[in-house]
Amino acid sequence: MAEPLLEVKKLKINFRTEDGIAQVINDINLHVNKEEVIAIVGESGCGKSVTVRSMLGLLSTLPAQFINGDISFEDESLVGLSEKEWQKIRGKKISMIFQDPMTSLNPVFTIGEQLIDVYMLQGKSSSINLPSKKKKELRNKGRERAIEILKKMRIPDPESILDRYPVELSGGMRQRILIALALIHTPQLLLADEPGTALDVSVQDQILQELKRLVAEENVSMVFITHNLGVARMISDRIYVMYAGEVVETAESEELFKDPKHPYTKGLLSSIPKLNGEMGDGIDGRIPDFVDPPQGCRFYDRCPVRMEKCASMRPELIDVKSNHKVACHLFE
Ligand code: SF4
Repeated sequence: MAEPLLEVKKLKINFRTEDGIAQVINDINLHVNKEEVIAIVGESGCGKSVTVRSMLGLLSTLPAQFINGDISFEDESLVGLSEKEWQKIRGKKISMIFQDPMTSLNPVFTIGEQLIDVYMLQGKSSSINLPSKKKKELRNKGRERAIEILKKMRIPDPESILDRYPVELSGGMRQRILIALALIHTPQLLLADEPGTALDVSVQDQILQELKRLVAEENVSMVFITHNLGVARMISDRIYVMYAGEVVETAESEELFKDPKHPYTKGLLSSIPKLNGEMGDGIDGRIPDFVDPPQGCRFYDRCPVRMEKCASMRPELIDVKSNHKVACHLFE
């Protein structure tokens, strides 16, 4: 039976803005099982990145506040942990691949220095207070692990890559290094924030195939966020579709493509350009104002099949089939 690794329950996150309180995440539930890959899909600004950052305690630097709900990892709540407690989790148990390979590496250190430093700082024992002999041993181990993980990423001649600076590498190679950095401690959960979107489609595809293979080989669970449903289908076991800070549909990846229910999911699918060059229909309108969101369904203004009650009643996420849930009054 599938064992949950991370669970998000009734999570609400608000941001203080000049215009008022923005209700950015509104009562979402999701979970990731051990060795499972889930994708969170939606347009820019739908709350994907905020959700994922909250799983790593990275909202404290933003004007965000938890209003309600819980995030638990291996049955322990992550809400309200101190920075010291987070340091035992980040990188070791939960790790993150950031979006932009061009700005996420330090340009003044070699790839080897950056990989080995991450290994030493987040290793089983912090290297700061170690005697110099032990420190050297740990550094050597870090170098061995860095070479091993680069080989697993199928990077040719990994020893020579360790001596290079980020500026000497292509965008695709830098993205591979960011993945290696996130996996150097073999975390239990990897959070991936649209890796590869800045790259050519063919390079992105290659990197995502490698990432998929690597997380399976290392038995790592993954939360992958993307605006691209095709990418989500390729990489994940299950998909959560988010709209304006809410989960509107969730199902196993193939099921979601075979039988999409929510008008927003259908709109996203129809937005995918066709192979014959035809452009998709797209979804008219824009995501609503988070400071003053609609009282009922947040998709109301853009929904082609809206009904009167949708304006005032918020639809709950309900089962429409086994492992397939939808938040829409059409299915009640
Ligand atoms: Fe459309 Fe109503 Fe369903 Fe919202 S609840 S998606 S407005 S039909």
